[in-house]
Amino acid sequence: MNYKKLVLGGAGLLCAAAVAVTFTGGKSMAKQSLNTKEQNIAVIASRTAAGDMAGLTAALNQGLDDGLTISEIKEELVQMYAYCGFPRSLNAITNFMNVVHEREARGIHDTAGIEPNALPADADREKIGRETREQLTGQPFNAPYAKFVPTIDTFLKEHLFADIFARGVLTPQEREIATVAALATMSGTEGQLAGHIGIAKNIGVTDKQIAEILAIAHTPHDILFGLGAPNDANARYFSGPSYLAPITTDQMGVFNVTFEPGVRNNWHVHHGGGQILLATTGRGYYQAWGEKPRELRPGDVVNIPADQKHWHGAAPDSWFTHIAIEVPGKNNHAEWLEPVSDEEYNKLK
Ligand code: MN
Repeated sequence: MNYKKLVLGGAGLLCAAAVAVTFTGGKSMAKQSLNTKEQNIAVIASRTAAGDMAGLTAALNQGLDDGLTISEIKEELVQMYAYCGFPRSLNAITNFMNVVHEREARGIHDTAGIEPNALPADADREKIGRETREQLTGQPFNAPYAKFVPTIDTFLKEHLFADIFARGVLTPQEREIATVAALATMSGTEGQLAGHIGIAKNIGVTDKQIAEILAIAHTPHDILFGLGAPNDANARYFSGPSYLAPITTDQMGVFNVTFEPGVRNNWHVHHGGGQILLATTGRGYYQAWGEKPRELRPGDVVNIPADQKHWHGAAPDSWFTHIAIEVPGKNNHAEWLEPVSDEEYNKLK
């Protein structure tokens, strides 16, 4: 492949993206959600950035099950090193290698996918990178740090925006979805996150898709005792998705319960021994019937007497995890009552 062809190929790809901006920017497409492939890309990037190897293993298996190719995932994990460093990227790649080998051993034949492109040795990487970046951001680049340390801007242009973006396999939109997911997962990278949300929107990623990426990135990955499984058994008594991880049931029932943002359980009563809640992650609420709601943060303890009508759940904008202890008593059982109304819940911050 000669240099000119490659540049035209690259420009064509970005022009296609620009066309997609016009197309997806219309009213009918503005609320478009992430498709399955994009969701998997976001989850893989987020777990890589978090260094959450158990979560990444699950995400890689899900991605492959849903049809991501081995080549696409390799590309994503290579790109990740530019945003979260070689250690996170290499750990993720090693994890992925093990996942692929383990699936092969189980007789699963995943699709290899297409080979990436490579820029020729004599390509003008500075020019290619500068033009790619301008097409992505939609404006000339003039960050003060690039004048203070020109070397880092050269590396960005020649390597990230030339070598890596020219590899293809993933579209520019898919690469930005991965980048936004990784930056939203890390802390202290809010400035870069804002910049990349701007880029993603510029090349056609919708506001709804951005919100979905942020929700994926904010899914807690460091829950003591784990997220567990969807709380299907009690789903009808919860306003939305929650998760249950039994910690022990040997001497008494101790469960880890995680609520997605805005999710709470119905008003209910624990007959028998009552319940103790230990707040561990995020921000939530507890309310006893006839009392004001009480905000809960990690370290807070709630003693709920037997027969006390109450509800508990997440704050509107935060995941929330508590340990729920079933206090031993006679004939322990929960009595589920009416939902907490939106009118009541929406007063909470
Ligand atoms: Mn309760």
